[in-house]
Amino acid sequence: MSIKTRAAVLKGPYDIELTERELTCGPTEVIVKNHLMGICGSDKNFYRGKLPPQTAEFRQEPGFPFYLGHESGGTVVEVGERVHEYKVGDAVMAFGWNNNFADYFKAPVTDLQPVPPGLDLDLASLGEPVGCAMFAGMEAQVKLGDVVAVFGAGFAGQVIAQCAKAAGAYRVAVVDVCAGKLRLAKELGADVVVNTAEEDPVAAVKDLTGGRGADVVVEAAGSEEAINQATQALAYGGKFVFYSWVTQPVRLDISRWHDDGFTFINACLVHHTREERFVWAPRALRPVAQGLVKIRPLITHEFKLSEIKDAFALVDKDDTAVKVVLRP
Ligand SMILES: [Zn+2]
Repeated sequence: MSIKTRAAVLKGPYDIELTERELTCGPTEVIVKNHLMGICGSDKNFYRGKLPPQTAEFRQEPGFPFYLGHESGGTVVEVGERVHEYKVGDAVMAFGWNNNFADYFKAPVTDLQPVPPGLDLDLASLGEPVGCAMFAGMEAQVKLGDVVAVFGAGFAGQVIAQCAKAAGAYRVAVVDVCAGKLRLAKELGADVVVNTAEEDPVAAVKDLTGGRGADVVVEAAGSEEAINQATQALAYGGKFVFYSWVTQPVRLDISRWHDDGFTFINACLVHHTREERFVWAPRALRPVAQGLVKIRPLITHEFKLSEIKDAFALVDKDDTAVKVVLRP
């Protein structure tokens, strides 16, 4: 049996369209009816024509037309003859690039995970971005009394800042250029917000720590400038948590990385093995189900799949958009 679906294709920069596709389930594949889809920061980069190089994790050819989408979840409607892990009706979260901006998507078994207990299907559909950000927040190893500076108040930065606070940080500073995102960070518990359009973030973090610098910095902005600023804002012997997917070459001043003995934590869940992710994702999502970290306030805009052009136009232009979601 094959299933017809609308699915998004990026034909070139700023040129996104819904096309008709027909999905046929292979023996080790599963077809899922989407419940909700999220637009990722990386989708925005693709939309703007910035394609990543191929890596072990990112297996697609970086070129147009590009079949977009990886954040979603929903209900299994068909399983291949060799699939024993799932049955029709199961609720699943997607992890992987399977053209998820669609009514239905097809994925290998290894790109899916069961919805952990306590998560409703809206939040489970954001299991990938939430899981990745929560993993980073938990792996940042924030200790009671730490001062933490999070660079970037996008979706991941907001989640990581909440994790730092919940883990016992004395002060959490969030740095961004967008006032709307900083306001949200403050509402969700950040102690200090620094708008880089008005203030030097390195000086602000130094002020907060009597000149010492933050115990932990988190780079979640994905820019050359933010990586350099985070480097300068970190205390001697501090922890540098790296989250962003920086796909273009950047120029870094890394003298302090050596001389001031930084510890580096590469904190992106999906870039470890699938087996690790399988163990980690439920653990990373547990504090969300427990209500310790708030995700709903981060969903700032909702569209219908048929309005995907408008959704991407908004993501491209509106700085206050944190997580934009689509429903079929
Ligand atoms: Zn993503």
